[in-house]
Amino acid sequence: MLTDSHCHLDFECFDADREAVLQRAALVGVEHIVVPAVAAEHWPRVAALAGRYPNVSYGLGIHPCFASEHSLTEVETLPQGLQQPGCVAIGECGLDAVNSPLNLAEQQRLLERHLVVASEAQLPLLLHVRKAHHLLLPLLDRHSLPGRGVIHGFSGSRELAMEYVRRGYRLGVGGVITYARATKTRAAIASVPVDALLLETDSPDMPLCGQQGKRNEPASVQSVLQALSQLLDLPSDALAEQLARNNSRFFNRLV
Ligand SMILES: [Zn+2]
Repeated sequence: MLTDSHCHLDFECFDADREAVLQRAALVGVEHIVVPAVAAEHWPRVAALAGRYPNVSYGLGIHPCFASEHSLTEVETLPQGLQQPGCVAIGECGLDAVNSPLNLAEQQRLLERHLVVASEAQLPLLLHVRKAHHLLLPLLDRHSLPGRGVIHGFSGSRELAMEYVRRGYRLGVGGVITYARATKTRAAIASVPVDALLLETDSPDMPLCGQQGKRNEPASVQSVLQALSQLLDLPSDALAEQLARNNSRFFNRLV
């Protein structure tokens, strides 16, 4: 009954063995996979994946690290893609102060367009944020976002986690918590209510501890569950049930 709420299954590195990747995920109980598009040319690709595999849904957006000077015009066409039943979110979008080719002012304009679309479509946001929380929080406060969103691959302090959770945002929990040295993030994840958490792998990125340098894949969401179960000292069955409820509340179009 697990969902990988953030998996780039459309990336080329899965072209050769995507079926096998999906089979390995199904074998460990991954029932649903949400694929966030990172650029406009990926939109048809993620929609086609959802058409082909009934357990795949997707988000539409432009990732700040994949953005270009055309992105602002491209994002204007985004609402046309939202009517498909497989589209469950807006994203991946956000702010990245480290790796984006756009400056932060341009990124904020681009993100703001996503927020307007998310608000009109009443869809949740799949948010990427790197060293820009101080800019993201006020931006979220300025928009009415009925579907809220998830801070994917959350890492940070308890205080930062609570800034999002008290605004109704979820935290995406991935491979980070499998690293013992990630003490701050582990403590933050352990301190928020369990109903604010979604599991994810961010495949092919964010390998689990011990898997560094390898391609990550959605089957590893099971290991993230086990790590979270230990961290929270909760039985993994009960935790998985709670997480399934979190997913169906968050992605209200999820089948
Ligand atoms: Zn991502």
